[in-house]
Amino acid sequence: MPNIVHANEADRELFERELDSFVPDVICDAHMHLWAKTHLPPTGWETFRQIEEEVVDLAAYRRRMAELLPGRRVAGGLILPGAVAAAGDQLRFQNELVAAEVAADPGWGGSMLVSPEMDPEYVRQEVRRLRLAGLKCYHVRSGLAVTWDADIPDYLPEAQVKVAHEERLCITLHMVKARAVADPSNQHWIRHYCETYPNMQLILAHAARGFDPYHTIEGMAALAGLPNLWCDMAAVTDVGACEAIIETLGHDHLLYGTDFPVSHLRGRCVAIGDGFLWLYDDTLDWKTVSFQPLQPVFVGLESLRVLKQAAWHCRLGDRQVEDIFCNNARRLLGLAV
Ligand SMILES: [Zn+2]
Repeated sequence: MPNIVHANEADRELFERELDSFVPDVICDAHMHLWAKTHLPPTGWETFRQIEEEVVDLAAYRRRMAELLPGRRVAGGLILPGAVAAAGDQLRFQNELVAAEVAADPGWGGSMLVSPEMDPEYVRQEVRRLRLAGLKCYHVRSGLAVTWDADIPDYLPEAQVKVAHEERLCITLHMVKARAVADPSNQHWIRHYCETYPNMQLILAHAARGFDPYHTIEGMAALAGLPNLWCDMAAVTDVGACEAIIETLGHDHLLYGTDFPVSHLRGRCVAIGDGFLWLYDDTLDWKTVSFQPLQPVFVGLESLRVLKQAAWHCRLGDRQVEDIFCNNARRLLGLAV
């Protein structure tokens, strides 16, 4: 089981050496998770149970962010539910926790955890009641025996996208299938939803799930010209995917995100062949695997390095970097922070 950890000397050194001069003073986090331990199913999700606090709210999140982004002000962003497998009352409580945090801090928007079987009118009533800005779907809620190969409508039905259009909501989509955005079915549904429902803002999480960046490099061109399509780059640790997004959608449709608590695991994801592999602190013996001892750092630091490289390769100026780190999310969510 990967461990959620506190910053150590290696994390602090890497930030100072490579990132301190790149990361702006004010941050909006467009992809992070809050939850309470009571929202988690009785078994599994052990990584989420490691955090000391029973309720991982904005205050708990901010304490951790001070370790990842020292000296930076996290002004807001988009709160996503963390207990994505919650059911029954726990699902409702999870959404109410997100709503309570958003209500207490005007810098943030929040997303409602939805399931494909939910009545679209219930979704509409709940986002209105809870004053939420978006929807969060997830493939594990599709009801399929094998969820990693699900088609998008299996976990994000069109009737819910229509509600998002009518209520002017964003939707954070962590797509699945082996080849992610290079898959023709995923391309079809993303284009269909974006063209049919222009007041819905679709955010492709993890650089269009570009954990293997070659999928994003290959697939993004098929999604050019959709003004309501965005990507966050949360937990992406390999170069190439952010560049493809900036070139296809523009830097003004790329959003910084941490994927907290994933940001506070150590290790990174690497492309291997036509897929990818997550290497965490407990995946291998880092002290003996190489000719010299290796010291994995926060996933959140690895993804900041990747974003810095993308800014460099795409010749972005300071103002454009600030857009990715904050202004784009404010514009998307209509936040005044
Ligand atoms: Zn996430």
